[in-house]
Amino acid sequence: MAQCERVTPVHRIEFDVDWPPGHVASFLVECDEPTLVDAGMAGAGGETRLRETLADAGHDLADVEHLVLTHPHVDHIGYVNTVIEAADPTLHVPAGVRDRFARDPDDLGSAVRRTARAAGLTGEDLDGAVDVAVESLERNRTLLPVEAVDVWIEGGATYDVGGTTVEAVHTPGHQADHCCFAVELGDERALLAGDMAIEPFRPVVLHSGLDRGVENAIDAFHDALDRLADLDPDRVYPGHGPVHTEFDRVIERDRRSLDRLLDRTEARLDDDHRTAAAIADARAGGDSTYVLPEVVAALRHLDAHGRVEADRVDGVAHYHAR
Ligand SMILES: [Zn+2]
Repeated sequence: MAQCERVTPVHRIEFDVDWPPGHVASFLVECDEPTLVDAGMAGAGGETRLRETLADAGHDLADVEHLVLTHPHVDHIGYVNTVIEAADPTLHVPAGVRDRFARDPDDLGSAVRRTARAAGLTGEDLDGAVDVAVESLERNRTLLPVEAVDVWIEGGATYDVGGTTVEAVHTPGHQADHCCFAVELGDERALLAGDMAIEPFRPVVLHSGLDRGVENAIDAFHDALDRLADLDPDRVYPGHGPVHTEFDRVIERDRRSLDRLLDRTEARLDDDHRTAAAIADARAGGDSTYVLPEVVAALRHLDAHGRVEADRVDGVAHYHAR
């Protein structure tokens, strides 16, 4: 296994985002060839920070040889086109993104409408959920042009990235195609973790959003945590929160948090809260756009495991405890 010998080979580059925790990080890994892991959130000052971090490390943006992406969320792919234009790097992207981005927007819209309707959304809220999904697909396809991808990353495989061996691990749950990357940096085993193994909080279960696959999101997340646990890295470089050495604790915290999500979702079921939308609204206390997929996933999981039962009324799933 080719390891990176540089003593301080990782530089954190922080970009602003306007949702908690207010930032997202990409990493410049300086081994034989400068490699960027994730491409930040586009916005004021972002490109300057990207260029300055590279300059501090003695590089120009044009020197980036590899761009490796963990997952196709907007805050991780903001400067893909900028890096391609400046550097034409080898672009490595999780394989699942190819089919996801090839999805017909009308098919996506229909699938999301069915799921959102079953979740109890109506009227403008229902149309809004469909619009969010279709607009996200179209925006993300622009930010990450699949025709520029050089290497489609398969979980479980190893890759030579600029002379350094990188092990890819498929880690769905937060996002269905998400991959983390394990690499030997000096005498440390590092995990470039994207939105997994975050120190201050468990990542939200977005997985496939309200598209097909939402019923598997909780199991997928557990599978991801099992795969990560086998890696046992010394240091974690996540996309949110600090670089940390708390890997074991964080993985256990995430497992417990998923269990608590199920328990709390079940406990919220009462006469006023029978649908996923009602529970998501009660939980969010405001905009529940990013809570709803997690609640739908939890209820589908509870249903599949015999803990709750759904009565379908006009296509809407009304849940009650068994
Ligand atoms: Zn994400």
